[in-house]
Amino acid sequence: MKSLRRMPLYRRCDEIMSKTRIALVGMGKIARDQHVPALAANDAFELVAAASPHQRLEGVPNFTGIEALLDAVKDLDAVALCTPPQLRYPLARYALERGLHVLLEKPPGATLNEVAALVGLAERQGVALFAAWHSREAAAVEPARRWLEPRNISGATVTWKEDVRFWHPGQAWIWKAGGLGVFDPGINALSILTQVLPGTLVLKEAELAFPSNCETPVAASLRMETELGTEVRMELDFLQPGPPSWDIDVRTDAGRLLLSRGGAVMRIGDEAPIENPDNEYPNLYARFEQLVRNRGIDVDVTPFRLVADAFMCGRRIVAEPFIE
Ligand code: NAP
Repeated sequence: MKSLRRMPLYRRCDEIMSKTRIALVGMGKIARDQHVPALAANDAFELVAAASPHQRLEGVPNFTGIEALLDAVKDLDAVALCTPPQLRYPLARYALERGLHVLLEKPPGATLNEVAALVGLAERQGVALFAAWHSREAAAVEPARRWLEPRNISGATVTWKEDVRFWHPGQAWIWKAGGLGVFDPGINALSILTQVLPGTLVLKEAELAFPSNCETPVAASLRMETELGTEVRMELDFLQPGPPSWDIDVRTDAGRLLLSRGGAVMRIGDEAPIENPDNEYPNLYARFEQLVRNRGIDVDVTPFRLVADAFMCGRRIVAEPFIE
């Protein structure tokens, strides 16, 4: 679907019905596990190419970088940026400047001002920009938001702990500045929390533990408050052996709501848990399709802002070196 500006009406209608030709940039774990199958299942998109320094995607032309990709594939409409976050901004700028629609994996950049600049550029270019928060699409998140909406919340506890060696093997970028360390998964919890709790969450205090040989934290404790003064505590740990804990426990005047398995399962009080099939990435691409059609911008930095506040105001302690 090429630029619709200055096209005759009959061609515009034709273009609106055609598939969005998209390329994946960064053929790592998330691109393979989620983006490729979600795109294959969505008729609105055609995955036409991939760019990654070393990895290749079967069945499409491959390039080692976005420049070579855009030089060669002239009729591309969109890119999904699945690289480490430190690269998001230059790659997104490059694509937006060339009139492409852009989907940003989470987190949407390495700094808040990078993301603000991308929004301004997308507005000027009249193209779609989507900061994807996949955990917000977990099956129980919207039911939990609806259940909590009319209730008085008296407190919440977030426990987000996993084994980095199992979930992020070899991902050295996580330990480099801008890679977020334990906030790489922790921001998923914050994306859910900021979706299901009303109002603005404010960071009150934080402690971040940095391994002596790393630039990002391996563990963190946060104390936040809702605008009504309700306390929300969060514990993040990258060194939990065995199964992960991805839980959000909310206490209300009508009992407890527990969101577990990263937002996939909801349990209210002692009732049976409610669980639905995972549809996170299909939902993200359905939303991106709408944005492309309308040249819309959907960029919510709320979870990212809380992480920035924790890095800005959190106490730092030094932890044992991390050896993978
Ligand atoms: P990953 O496995 O390390 O993959 C990142 C890929 O980026 C690498 O394969 C690398 O390609 C590629 N890359 C590096 N520099 C590039 C460049 N200049 N141009 C194009 N590609 C480049 O990381 P990941 O787990 O997929 O995570 C990527 C992003 O998705 C992160 O922001 C992460 O937070 C987010 N995410 C991850 C998950 C997950 O479960 N893993 C879930 C949701 C979101 P080569 O290997 O070819 O060098």
